[in-house]
Amino acid sequence: MRRPFVAGNWKMNLDLATGRALVSELRTRLPASPPIDVAICPPHIYLFPMAKAVADTPIRLGAQNCFHESSGAFTGEVSAAMVKETGCTYVILGHSERRHTIGPKDASGRVQGETDAMIAAKCRAAMSAGLVPIVCVGETLEERDRDQTEAVLSRQIDGSLAGIALDGPEKLVIAYEPVWAIGTGRNATPEQAQAAHRHLRGRLAERFGRGMADGIRIQYGGSVKPDNAITLMKEADVDGALVGGASLKASDFAGIIEGCIRAKGL
Ligand code: PEP
Repeated sequence: MRRPFVAGNWKMNLDLATGRALVSELRTRLPASPPIDVAICPPHIYLFPMAKAVADTPIRLGAQNCFHESSGAFTGEVSAAMVKETGCTYVILGHSERRHTIGPKDASGRVQGETDAMIAAKCRAAMSAGLVPIVCVGETLEERDRDQTEAVLSRQIDGSLAGIALDGPEKLVIAYEPVWAIGTGRNATPEQAQAAHRHLRGRLAERFGRGMADGIRIQYGGSVKPDNAITLMKEADVDGALVGGASLKASDFAGIIEGCIRAKGL
């Protein structure tokens, strides 16, 4: 069985004091050794202090991004090895905000964010540095309405994992995050999530073989809250959650973790 995994993406929220307070409250709310993996993903600048804060807890650390080059004249960038050195286990790559919100706009006002090729280069760098990438994929509302969801997910999986050789299913995590569900309060239904996850697993099987695909964790992300976590996590191919807004409040994040544990009967 795949070990479920719940991660909190803090995005550009909290400061050092509130981040520390959140971790110390989580410490009191989480079981000493939960039967699932749990991680927080603070901004880069807080990775070292947060590594200290979670040191004697079951909480692992993830970064929100890394650069694909290993060193050199890349002002403001952070390499995968640098991220690893802070104590991170994971790195989120290709989050929809990096694909669709952050970046220069073209003439029609569309953001030119990260491409699948850029994400694949980061993914290869992350794996070489010993990090487990959490590769985010997901369709926009327009693409869903046009019935293009599966085509978009296939394209993103193929493109974002180009050139990746996988020697164990635990070395990669996928997050299915429909863009229309992120930060909107509108989550995918459990049926929509399961259908997308099943499709993704099928694509991973074509790419890496059925045995490997069956072991790769696929998180759902998009307005996960304590009250919808159980029904979403009950779906067979939903192996946990990537949580944005609700990961900023200890009671909500702990509620989602508990919901995941219950849904999986652990
Ligand atoms: C996210 O940013 O990955 C996310 C899923 O955000 P939220 O939970 O706030 O929708």
